[in-house]
Amino acid sequence: MNVLVCNAGSTSLKFKLYNMPEERILAEGKIECIGSFDNAIFHYFCSNRKEKVLLYKQDIATYSQGILLFLDYLLDKDFGVLKDITQIERIGFKTVLAKGYYGVHELTPEVLAAMEECIVIAPAHNKPYLEAINHFQMILPDVMLVGVFETAFHTTIPMERRLYGIPYEWYKEYGIQRFGYHGASHSYISSVISEKEGNTGKLISCHLGGSGSLCAIDNGISVDNSFGFSLQTGIIHANRIGDTDPYLFPFLLSQGKSMDEIMEGMDKRGGLFGLSGISNDLRDIELAAAQGDIRAKLTLDVYCHQILQYIGAYFIELGGLNHIVFTGGIGENSVLLRDAICNKLSHIGVELDEENEISQKGDRIISSAQSKVKVWVIPTNEELVVARETCSI
Ligand code: ADP
Repeated sequence: MNVLVCNAGSTSLKFKLYNMPEERILAEGKIECIGSFDNAIFHYFCSNRKEKVLLYKQDIATYSQGILLFLDYLLDKDFGVLKDITQIERIGFKTVLAKGYYGVHELTPEVLAAMEECIVIAPAHNKPYLEAINHFQMILPDVMLVGVFETAFHTTIPMERRLYGIPYEWYKEYGIQRFGYHGASHSYISSVISEKEGNTGKLISCHLGGSGSLCAIDNGISVDNSFGFSLQTGIIHANRIGDTDPYLFPFLLSQGKSMDEIMEGMDKRGGLFGLSGISNDLRDIELAAAQGDIRAKLTLDVYCHQILQYIGAYFIELGGLNHIVFTGGIGENSVLLRDAICNKLSHIGVELDEENEISQKGDRIISSAQSKVKVWVIPTNEELVVARETCSI
């Protein structure tokens, strides 16, 4: 069965076309910096050609345009792997939140309506997904579309970690609680460590990308996640603010800011972008910091500090630590950030090996043989989790 997986990140759109159950990748595509008018980067790779396609500064303003570009390449006479678009038999989406649906579901009108209801909680994710899903429904009306929701892996988080200190009736009436997200990525990391080590033991998975979250995993089970009710929470993200003081809102309103202005600040002008004033891309911030930009350096410090706060909390919650895994665009690629974090963890026995840190690619251990905690870099594969679940329904 040909299964197309669509991953609409907050700053990127990724596709993988799998032949299942062999888990063979036929083609993959990625658009970075989607929505920026002249700055997007399109990557495409197919199994029948060695060379990759790489197009810079593509004008890809919408998720629908990104989909069309990828589908064009799937059918391309040189780079294509399909004769006809109807050879796509199922499409799986790494969906985020739908009221009342927290696992794997066919995207029926009811589920889509439940996603629509949650736009107010997950605007940066549910909107692009609904745009992508609507577009695929239009061009492939007979294909089953499946949502693999990001909350599924975290349903095991115990109640005392889910509840906020709010009036209990808000939880009962509106379901306000900490849901946790990035489930596909953290469950993938958990499965890789289990496969390699026999079991996960006590593991902290750090998914650092356009969105970032940390997950405490005990013997393969999610026991805490830095995301709460919405994806605005936890550590700072590329553009989103992360954990903050709720009294900021009445204060800003009292200062004359409108609700729309505040929301825009929280969604688009916060996070790495808002703090640095340079970019939402960590590469640009690292470069500016290296050139002496003080705000860029401060942004890196805030980011590291917040990650360390969660590592500290989870170390205690787990009652020890066997593994730390770095994943996501930042976690997989930023040596500077991994070093900055791990150097602050020497008192719990973390020791990196410089050689390992720079000399290898793919799944790897970057800690030394003496380190009490194994530190890993594992490229995440959320799409594989989505493809498997999409087939299983
Ligand atoms: P998303 O959450 O949108 O799927 P990704 O996981 O693809 O995002 O991560 C994207 C981020 O990864 C970029 O915004 C960029 O900051 C970061 N990144 C990618 N490569 C590097 C690198 N070599 N060094 C530092 N950061 C990087």
